Amino acid sequence: MGFKEALFNGLAPDGGLYLPEFIPEFGADFFKADMSYPELASAMIQPFVSDDISDTMLMSITESAFNFDISLISLSENINSLELFYGPTLAFKDFAARFTARCMEQLLNDDITVLVATSGDTGSAVANGFFEIEGIRVVILYPSGRISPIQEKQLTTLGNNITALEVDGNFDDCQRMVKDAFLDENLREKRALSSANSINIARLLPQSVYYAWAWKQVYNGNSVLFSVPSGNFGNLNGGLLAKRMGLPVKKLIAATNVNDVFPKYLKNGEIKPQISKRTLSNAMDVGTPSNLDRIIKLYNGDLTAMREDLVSWSCSDEETRMLIKNTKEKYDYIADPHTAVGLSGLQKYFEKYGADYTGIVLATAHPGKFAEIVEPLINEKITIPDKLKNASLKEKFSTMIPNKYSSLKEYLLET
Ligand SMILES: *Cc1c(COP(=O)(O)O)cnc(C)c1O
Repeated sequence: MGFKEALFNGLAPDGGLYLPEFIPEFGADFFKADMSYPELASAMIQPFVSDDISDTMLMSITESAFNFDISLISLSENINSLELFYGPTLAFKDFAARFTARCMEQLLNDDITVLVATSGDTGSAVANGFFEIEGIRVVILYPSGRISPIQEKQLTTLGNNITALEVDGNFDDCQRMVKDAFLDENLREKRALSSANSINIARLLPQSVYYAWAWKQVYNGNSVLFSVPSGNFGNLNGGLLAKRMGLPVKKLIAATNVNDVFPKYLKNGEIKPQISKRTLSNAMDVGTPSNLDRIIKLYNGDLTAMREDLVSWSCSDEETRMLIKNTKEKYDYIADPHTAVGLSGLQKYFEKYGADYTGIVLATAHPGKFAEIVEPLINEKITIPDKLKNASLKEKFSTMIPNKYSSLKEYLLET
């Protein structure tokens, strides 16, 4: 299947996830070359999309999608924070959502409905990424009462082609309802559906690029580690893809909160899906991470090979609070709860294997998005960026539905 088909299908017809059939390999020289962010993105993504997107079009997509800052901050000799939160919704998901929206805009034939389940940040990133894009209606499902007030405002206040459904359930319910819609042929005959969840392959590709960008900033011969705050494992998959493409990375650390399916799997080879538990890092409250299948497939189920590239630890809310506090005291740096989970992963790695590495933590959200958690821990007011303030002043507009697939179907057919 070509990129275009996989992009609009979202999920494969058999319910599985798409992976590239072939992963190109670049030499170390490629990763050391001097390139702008959009140039690097175009070069890394081009081999996956070249059948459907010309080089010129790809360059214009990456220039318009990645038109905001990215920054690598050194906290100490071996700890760096890769700040991925300068897009419109102040979370790393803007990279993927903006890229996906622009690919769809360019390749669209007929009107479509984009369905998204969100545990917080996906919804707002997708809503903003697709806002006012002609021919695409976006329907976002989010778990009622389980996302932060500001996250809710960010995805319920845009209007235009964006609608928000407030589901009486948890994130796993939302995700299951979206999956059911994709498997419902009767619905799909009547409504052209597409997904922009982290299951969409177009979301994964751009998430490999910032690993290479960060590596360029720090490379000095030292082994490089990335610690990735993980929930649905889309971001981590981006890192694994970059490593497969030849980026010299020693290890990727999958840092989770107490939703710890993956650390347990790496340890004993068993996948035990869980009911998602609520934590301070709510965008990572995923009991059954859908991208796990992709990781397993990338390694053909070889746990030993997987353990060569990956380690994984879980982090409690108590540790998360401690890390936010200590990071401020020690490094005068403010981490949001997700980034703090990433910092804990790196800390555990250093404790176990020594600190003779260059560690990079993916800072996935601006701390201002979680001010009510962070401010009391650091005894300081966080400067809230204007983008965030503006959303919080607008009126919420959403439709409440029960956590049943039939309710979603009814809604989609009636509107
Ligand atoms: C979505 C999200 C994560 C988790 O990313 P996955 O790709 O689902 O693993 C981490 N931090 C923040 C702030 C997020 O929004």
